[in-house]
Amino acid sequence: TSAPVAVEIQDLKKSYGFKPILRGIDLQVRAGERVALLGANGAGKTTLLRILACLAKPSAGSVHLYGWNCARDVQEVRRLIGFVGHQSYLYEELTARENLEFFARMYSVPEGRERALTWLNRVGLEKYARERVGTFSRGQLQRLSWARALLHQPDLLLLDEPDTGLDQQGLVLIDKLLDEHIERSGSAIFITHQLERAQALSDRIVLLARGRIARRCESEETSLETLRQVYQEVVG
Ligand code: ATP
Repeated sequence: TSAPVAVEIQDLKKSYGFKPILRGIDLQVRAGERVALLGANGAGKTTLLRILACLAKPSAGSVHLYGWNCARDVQEVRRLIGFVGHQSYLYEELTARENLEFFARMYSVPEGRERALTWLNRVGLEKYARERVGTFSRGQLQRLSWARALLHQPDLLLLDEPDTGLDQQGLVLIDKLLDEHIERSGSAIFITHQLERAQALSDRIVLLARGRIARRCESEETSLETLRQVYQEVVG
């Protein structure tokens, strides 16, 4: 397609101490594309997403988002991304509403207070607006993380097991939020361990094994059965 390049990763390497975690990743994602990232525990998926989110620095290679360098242009990159990760990055001592208002200010979101309320509604947390986030359940935290990630209308969503803790309605909700984001020509990279969801929610699937991309599949051309076989071969 001729959609603009959202993500450009070239020969990305990352080590912690002497331990290589990512051993040379090349990946391009265009605006409007959804990529699912699969792989065994410890394959390097979270590390890759954290580098894209400017939460970790590459050891070698380069990562660009819409032309900005993730290692250098941290301010610009942060505005372009919405991140849902294992850690919530929310403030436990603040209420749900205060958290969203804080992030709205941080991203200079116009009409931030209204937008915060709209998003609390959107994720079904309006009744909990005045409750401290420290008291939230896992699923409520995940809903609020989604609201925080989308509040500033990011171009790229980075989602690390974004369905963790969600009930059935929550799952339907986030699938809808993801669809709407893609319709606005946003792009997304998401990690999941559920092959069904990877296949159903993505345009492409990338399988990571021991810090390398072991396989790439087009979701439409890959049946769930084939994906299961490929996953078995790669992950073992
Ligand atoms: P999972 O499916 O379990 O979430 P993953 O594919 O997301 O796994 P990562 O979290 O990227 O895997 O971890 C890959 C490896 O990198 C692991 O062996 C982990 O111990 C190591 N690692 C990650 N972060 C650090 C760190 N800050 N310091 C040292 N080692 C780290």
